[in-house]
Amino acid sequence: MIGQMMQQPLLISSLLRHAERHHSRQEIVSRRVEGDIHRYTFRDLADRSRRLAQALGRLGVEPGSRVATLAWNGYRHLELYYAASGSGAVLHTVNPRLHPDQMEWIITDAADDVLFFDLTFLPLVRELAPRLASVRHFVVMSDRDHLPGDTDEFLAYEDLVGAESGDYRWPTFDENTASSLCYTSGTTGNPKGVLYSHRSTLLHTFAVSLPDSMGLSARDTVMPVVPMFHVNAWGLPYAACMVGAKVVFPGADLDGRSLYELQETEQVTLSASVPTVWQGQLQYAQDHGVRFTALERAVIGGAACPPSMLRRLEQEYGVTVIHGWGMTETSPFGTASVPKPSSEGLTVDERLAVQAKQGRCVFGMDLKIVDDAGNELPWDGSSAGHLHARGPWVLETYYHREDIDPLVDGWFPTGDIATIDADGFMQITDRSKDVIKSGGEWISSIDLENLAMNHPGVAAAACIGVRHRKWDERPLLVVVRTPEADLTAAELLDFFDGRIAKWWLPDDVVFVEALPMGSTGKVLKAPLREQFRDHLTT
Ligand code: ADP
Repeated sequence: MIGQMMQQPLLISSLLRHAERHHSRQEIVSRRVEGDIHRYTFRDLADRSRRLAQALGRLGVEPGSRVATLAWNGYRHLELYYAASGSGAVLHTVNPRLHPDQMEWIITDAADDVLFFDLTFLPLVRELAPRLASVRHFVVMSDRDHLPGDTDEFLAYEDLVGAESGDYRWPTFDENTASSLCYTSGTTGNPKGVLYSHRSTLLHTFAVSLPDSMGLSARDTVMPVVPMFHVNAWGLPYAACMVGAKVVFPGADLDGRSLYELQETEQVTLSASVPTVWQGQLQYAQDHGVRFTALERAVIGGAACPPSMLRRLEQEYGVTVIHGWGMTETSPFGTASVPKPSSEGLTVDERLAVQAKQGRCVFGMDLKIVDDAGNELPWDGSSAGHLHARGPWVLETYYHREDIDPLVDGWFPTGDIATIDADGFMQITDRSKDVIKSGGEWISSIDLENLAMNHPGVAAAACIGVRHRKWDERPLLVVVRTPEADLTAAELLDFFDGRIAKWWLPDDVVFVEALPMGSTGKVLKAPLREQFRDHLTT
């Protein structure tokens, strides 16, 4: 027997329709690359997105065509999120921090039809354009007045939007239709495309908004600092419309001061970014003796949030940290470290230790840990194994790589190593490619990094496995000192003493000016392993 309820496909355009009808006066504030602050409402967003959808049609963009963006977080990028996917095309957010050769590879692999880009990227696109055979139109996301005189080969975004009436109805189609495309950062081999659907995006949007996820509401002012080209800014551009939250887009300036100022003037209640960006904000707050007057929640993910950062945000600044884990292949939201009743009665230290884990699943996402032979390991908080995920917003196959089945028994192997405790809290101990194997036993590089970060003289730390004659591999700590600190290797190793098992103690500490960073703000360990491979054997 079939249920007798309305058949309404889960479409991205329905989020915008909801925001327009039920939150029409809610604001969207953007710091523009043109240099000023731009404000408008969800009603304006909906109107301009319809015009943009008409403009895409006029440019010959068809259902299924790929519409690429090279853009920072801002209202025009948001319009593209809705206009491209809403009209049945596929939004492809390209990471502008990649090497141009990689961008060319990705845009060619995706066979993007149109490329929209921020003014900032004009020189880059000029260089790339002749190599992008599939791209029929290049559109600068600005108005004609901001374009240099010699850019006739490019269209101006505002010309396109301004020429349309907005008299457009969002089409209805199968909710399994592709909506957007993101490539993994490709730290191992060429990047791989992950093709989301309207259905997976909508279900993911419900999941990120839940109270035990980011807990979003119409009373929030949300600042996605995590870029809209980094796994759809963790779903916030969709979730803001779903719940009717005010949105603040920081544009291109992601330094501590710029973010702090915007956060304060707009009274942001929830902000989301990777640990390195939070580090900049905390450093700014400390140097200038300022407080976060409205910020209630800090969503931190993409890399492990050091417990010292969690403690500072909570205890010095009164901000609740929501530590989250996910990846491009999981849309990305997988887990959030929101306490359960079992945390009541714990000491502050014990509670913070739970919150420092990567968190637990909300309905829709499921996880398991397995040993090398694929046997499921117990949820005892100490057995570490390969983390596998499944759910309606987890990938089934990679785009253009449909011949390869990435799943094992219907689960996606994440490449992470983790424990899960009896309450379902998952803790990443490493990525499998970063794991340190000493005498056949695993040492968690993340644990050692977190511990190093507790020392006031350490600004950043990366722990890598390097060759060792007796144990095959031993941990080496690579550290950036805080300004003015004159910390020595011996002092730091003394600090570790008694805080970890003796055999986990790094064999040495080397100090560097900066750690190599990837395109999504995460430390790259491969070049460090290359550089220090023989550090203990020579
Ligand atoms: P890529 O996989 O190409 O590096 P992603 O942005 O998809 O790009 O990164 C996903 C990976 O980032 C995860 O598999 C995990 O290793 C790491 N990661 C994400 N969030 C966390 C976290 N909170 N703690 C530790 N590692 C994390």
